[in-house]
Amino acid sequence: MGVMLLVGAFVLSREVVQVVSQNRLAARTIVVDAGHGGDDPGMVTETLKEKDLNLEVAKKLQEYLEGQGYHVEMTRTEDTGLYQEGTRNQKVQDMQNRVAFIGEKTPLLTVSIHQNSYPDPSVKGPQVFYYEDSVEGEKLAECIQGQMDEKLEVERPREAKGNRTYYLLKKSAGILNIVECGFMTNPEEAELLQREDYQEKIAEAVGKGILEYLGK
Ligand SMILES: [Zn+2]
Repeated sequence: MGVMLLVGAFVLSREVVQVVSQNRLAARTIVVDAGHGGDDPGMVTETLKEKDLNLEVAKKLQEYLEGQGYHVEMTRTEDTGLYQEGTRNQKVQDMQNRVAFIGEKTPLLTVSIHQNSYPDPSVKGPQVFYYEDSVEGEKLAECIQGQMDEKLEVERPREAKGNRTYYLLKKSAGILNIVECGFMTNPEEAELLQREDYQEKIAEAVGKGILEYLGK
């Protein structure tokens, strides 16, 4: 009987330790989502696919944040989507799985990396989106937008913008921003976006915005 109790207490305490360590991990976890991937290229130009640029920036952001002591969970680290091959509606499944991934990790915050496009090729510059009813989302977006405008020397900065229709903003638990790094439809910016040093600058600016928001 004594032994049973002892074993029971041991099993219980192991579970407690597991829960506590999971909570501790979540308390310094940031989810970085590289938009699109696999069969979904996102925006495409003659020479560029959005999914590739997103992944490059996302990986650099991961590196930056890990260097600052955070635990980073990536929704993808390769050219794959979050859907099962052969599923009828891959895009829907992909988005649902991203939302589920974020829900499981219970991170401090999530940043989803994308590139923008517009019919008028003169339009350029980074822009950060947050869920319109999220006060914290707005604060984070303003920090990231400010850092990007400064570090990327943006001539005519945009305002971080609230949105209620983007699936990821609407459905994700916790604080989430969509970071549109720049416009693939602006020739100058498209040139910059594929350069590794510029991608690093973006990652650093987004990372610094996150640190600023977290009060570091
Ligand atoms: Zn996109």
